[in-house]
Amino acid sequence: MTVKFKHVRVIHGPNQSKFPTCTSLLVDGGDTVAVVDPGAGPEALRAATADVQVDLVINTHYHFDHISGNYLFPDARVWMNPLEVEAFPNLNRVGEWLGIKEIYGDTGVACWISSVASPHTSQCPFSPCNRHEWWLSTRTPARVYTYDQEWQIGHARVIMVPAPGHTRGFCCPYFPDEGLVYTGDIDLTGFGPWYAGSDGDIAGFIASTRRIAQLDAGWFLTGHQAGMVSRDVFLGRLERFLNVISERQERLVTLLKSGVEPEDIPNYGLLYPPKYQVDPWIAMWERIAVRKHLELLQAPSSLSCPI
Ligand SMILES: [Zn+2]
Repeated sequence: MTVKFKHVRVIHGPNQSKFPTCTSLLVDGGDTVAVVDPGAGPEALRAATADVQVDLVINTHYHFDHISGNYLFPDARVWMNPLEVEAFPNLNRVGEWLGIKEIYGDTGVACWISSVASPHTSQCPFSPCNRHEWWLSTRTPARVYTYDQEWQIGHARVIMVPAPGHTRGFCCPYFPDEGLVYTGDIDLTGFGPWYAGSDGDIAGFIASTRRIAQLDAGWFLTGHQAGMVSRDVFLGRLERFLNVISERQERLVTLLKSGVEPEDIPNYGLLYPPKYQVDPWIAMWERIAVRKHLELLQAPSSLSCPI
């Protein structure tokens, strides 16, 4: 849906901004211009910013699909959330948060960093694991914005609302004057919520999503696929989206009851069908997600999180 805002323009990525691209925002505050989460791909980003000088790049979190185009704006200052600012330029931390350290150890992290440092490394089939933009877009140390505080980008006001769960530092830019929230990876996709990095948290994802839904906004823009939706549509689709978590949990319980050993659950694909697990990152995220769902069995009440 196309909606006009005073200071905010939506930059759609190719293929409905499906992962590993995302929908980006151009915030034109008059004397200051920012791009939020430049993951829409070089072509769309260059076209959208052809006539402006981009002063700021703002990242909601450190994931590839939200930072991949940072390097396209070498003259801009990069801003990151307080919990993930170390990602610039310390990819060791990224390797920890994403789950590489948990599954492949310190050697895996070191190997990954040398892979992305080179523009010639061969690519993985289903994830942006070895993309060189990881390296290019994390070279500049970032400045830190403050959560929950009004931030003036020229004449545009934005509040970075923390929404931990997807990652620890993940947040949603809220534009109170526009009545707009950029919900990023609270994206309403049929795949469902993603919390498969070592720093993801299922109960946190649910609680944060419900808080974001309560913001006083008429429009919600997702980072992938759904795009711009009205408040009613967002609220209407939210339960279906969150319910995917319960469906995964129910499937886990069924598999365990049928005699599948916990360590074999990833072979059944709780999040990712086995054919995608030939990709080392997909296999890694499947195992971490299964671990989190197994942990939920110890604390089942955290799934039901009433407003
Ligand atoms: Zn993300």
